[in-house]
Amino acid sequence: MTVINGHSLQGRKKNPLKLIKHSDIEIVRFVKVKGEASPYNGDLVYWSTRMGKHPEMPVRTALLLKKQKGKCTHCGLWFNEEDVIELDHIIPQAIGGKNEYKNWQLLHRHCHDEKTKYDLRKIKEHNTQKRGEELLKTWDNVNYIWVNDIPYMADKQGQVWGRNADGKEYVIYKFS
Ligand SMILES: [Zn+2]
Repeated sequence: MTVINGHSLQGRKKNPLKLIKHSDIEIVRFVKVKGEASPYNGDLVYWSTRMGKHPEMPVRTALLLKKQKGKCTHCGLWFNEEDVIELDHIIPQAIGGKNEYKNWQLLHRHCHDEKTKYDLRKIKEHNTQKRGEELLKTWDNVNYIWVNDIPYMADKQGQVWGRNADGKEYVIYKFS
């Protein structure tokens, strides 16, 4: 397809064709497009993927479609026009993933469901690990003794308090 630069023709009414310099002619080559696809025939996914934009597609979705070359990151299959496409945070926000372009991906709805299950496991692991670390940190900084397999923490004075059978508290150990 040859496109003659419109600007070069304007204002040159006298035999314009003779005045066109070689550099005024741009050759624009289009990769052969799929079948009858055009930006307005409803093939949103195809055109957003190709162009990274489409008047009827949210900008973010179109950009991600282009970045992902029209494929779902989870299953590697193409998005089809009838698919529900959902936005996913690659690293869940609950474990520190940011709400930004490089942490976004598009997934099929059913792939997103699978990813979410996986994310929930990761979040749980992350939280358990974090709680464990915090607990360890706490116990590293205090004095404690084991009583019947239960750690008893000392107070600021280094005293470990226990409880009598009658419910009264008493010092069972003192760190010096
Ligand atoms: Zn998928």
